[in-house]
Amino acid sequence: MHRVYLDHTATTPLDPRVLEAMLPYFTETFGNASSVHWYGQQAKGVLERSREALARAIGVQAGEVIFTSGGTESDNQAIVGVARAMKKGGRNHVITSQAEHHAVLGPCEELEKEGFEVTYLPVDSFGMIAAAQISEALRLTTGLVSIMHANNEVGTICPIKEIARVAHEHGAIVHTDAVQSLGKIPLDVENLGVDLMSLSAHKIYGPKGIGALVVRKGVGMEPLLHGGGQERGKRPGTENVPLAVGFARAVEIAVGEMKDESARLQGLRDLLEEGIRTEFSAALINGHPTDRLPHILNVSFDSSRMQLEGEMLVMNMDLQGIAVTSGSACTSGSMQPSHVLLAMGRDEKTAKATLRFSFGKTNTTDDVGYVLETLKTVLHRMVQ
Ligand code: PLP
Repeated sequence: MHRVYLDHTATTPLDPRVLEAMLPYFTETFGNASSVHWYGQQAKGVLERSREALARAIGVQAGEVIFTSGGTESDNQAIVGVARAMKKGGRNHVITSQAEHHAVLGPCEELEKEGFEVTYLPVDSFGMIAAAQISEALRLTTGLVSIMHANNEVGTICPIKEIARVAHEHGAIVHTDAVQSLGKIPLDVENLGVDLMSLSAHKIYGPKGIGALVVRKGVGMEPLLHGGGQERGKRPGTENVPLAVGFARAVEIAVGEMKDESARLQGLRDLLEEGIRTEFSAALINGHPTDRLPHILNVSFDSSRMQLEGEMLVMNMDLQGIAVTSGSACTSGSMQPSHVLLAMGRDEKTAKATLRFSFGKTNTTDDVGYVLETLKTVLHRMVQ
């Protein structure tokens, strides 16, 4: 069967070059990076070189990078850690958006239970947040603004630089979740001006289970975990050296190949988008037309013109070997429409009748042709 993987925003296969880089650190250089003896110091040296490589790729100092278990932990650590620290200075208000990943919304909801106030800003029909919205929402008590760099469902890229400028004028700390933008578009922390940034390795052909949180010098943040003093006390636990090596190698490759690969992915994405627009007049493209990640195509089928269940569509595509996701998520046993699409103003039925295609290294133009043909067959069968 012709198999096509089009879910690279969910995860990516490990790059063989990353695997090769990691292997010696499982068996040969296996020491605990906190041990004082030779084995430990070998591991420590490798860990710090990995941190430096990662820091260099995103324009920060090595001392500003904390390794975590992934994007979810980075977001939780940034939001809860900064909020608890800022409370001591009398600030208890956090600003975020309705279109954030659950890894941001979840900790924000937890903060509300602790007595913090959280503003969830609406997004426009492209999934975009404007710096002016931040200005209006800022209060004397606002201590943290957390807005994602690029949306994982629709790919819209937010104006983080302007958002950071506005928030800083007010003395608030700025966090951005850049999990999806790493390796796809240029990411320079200094230029963006944010104080904290969440990253994850498995979205860029690195290993699952490792991420990073950039914390700029001087930013107050309480640790979520308590234990040893690893990661300068901000994230205790024995350092995962092989995964750190893999993450650094994956970043080097992703950033090094980004220009050509992102252009290639955008070419494939645009080809599919054009084909879908031509074939299906009920198709609505979600996300910003230009300020969008190059590899994401999110399409809804207008519920007033075509009645579809996205989940059924996903299953039917899967039966033909094509892996995509729908615009709904399973919550408490029932299919809920995507909170991002609802925030963008799609009605529930249209939001549920959605497919997200996310391209990656494994895809070719042949795949686009196969997807279009299959989609035609499957849709015609489903709407009959
Ligand atoms: N943030 C965004 C925008 C994501 O897309 C994801 C993963 O889907 C995460 C956070 C969570 O990252 P991880 O899977 O590394 O915990």
